[in-house]
Amino acid sequence: MLLWAAGHTWLERIASTGWKEPLWVGIFPVNADGSAAAQSYIEGLDDRDFADIEDFVAREAHRYGKELTQPVHVALYPWLKRSPPQLETGTGLLGTALWSLKLRWFAWRTVELGGRAPPRIRMLVLYHDPSTLQTVPDSHGMQKGLIGVVHTFALRAMAGSNNIVITHEMLHTLGATDKYDPRSGTPLFPIGFAEPDRNPLYPQEKAEIMAGRRAVSAQDAQMPASLGAVVVGPATAAEIRWTRQ
Ligand SMILES: [Zn+2]
Repeated sequence: MLLWAAGHTWLERIASTGWKEPLWVGIFPVNADGSAAAQSYIEGLDDRDFADIEDFVAREAHRYGKELTQPVHVALYPWLKRSPPQLETGTGLLGTALWSLKLRWFAWRTVELGGRAPPRIRMLVLYHDPSTLQTVPDSHGMQKGLIGVVHTFALRAMAGSNNIVITHEMLHTLGATDKYDPRSGTPLFPIGFAEPDRNPLYPQEKAEIMAGRRAVSAQDAQMPASLGAVVVGPATAAEIRWTRQ
């Protein structure tokens, strides 16, 4: 398993940020809590529910001079009958490394493709019934293995913000780093701001994707309703190789 993982990683890094052909991203829905609400939500999903991710990446890539018509192609794959391995909060370094390895094995070896071509990036999207919990567990996007694990609410009204989280974790798989303060959750200035030169600075109208939220004041930040109010800032663009650093 270790040998397989090491060889795979090297090839993936080279192939994922060339931006010469559309990058295939597979969405694999998972019923996180076994609820009827999450199940009916998952069964109602289709490719169009993720189209704004494609539109967002295309719009932003074009701003940075990338001429590819569709830099990212997002396809919906069959929902998974099993949940991926969970990372318990407070897991140490070794435990996290082991979890990451198990997750890669799960995403690449136990996931069914339903007869479709394998995607380059695998986003496992876990849907939770919003009536049974207040906040969802943390999401993760890993460059090693090109895998994202995203926790979301099975709620139509949150589809737009769910796509922000999916895109944020997807860009982590391509090497983008967080641009918010981990203690307060507020965007870092200037790299986490969509418009750092705006006068007055607050409120920001848009969010930078790796900050995830727009600063409405020096202390507060809000997640936009959709990717329509999100941008890829210059620091993120350099990390995912749209520009040279
Ligand atoms: Zn992040």
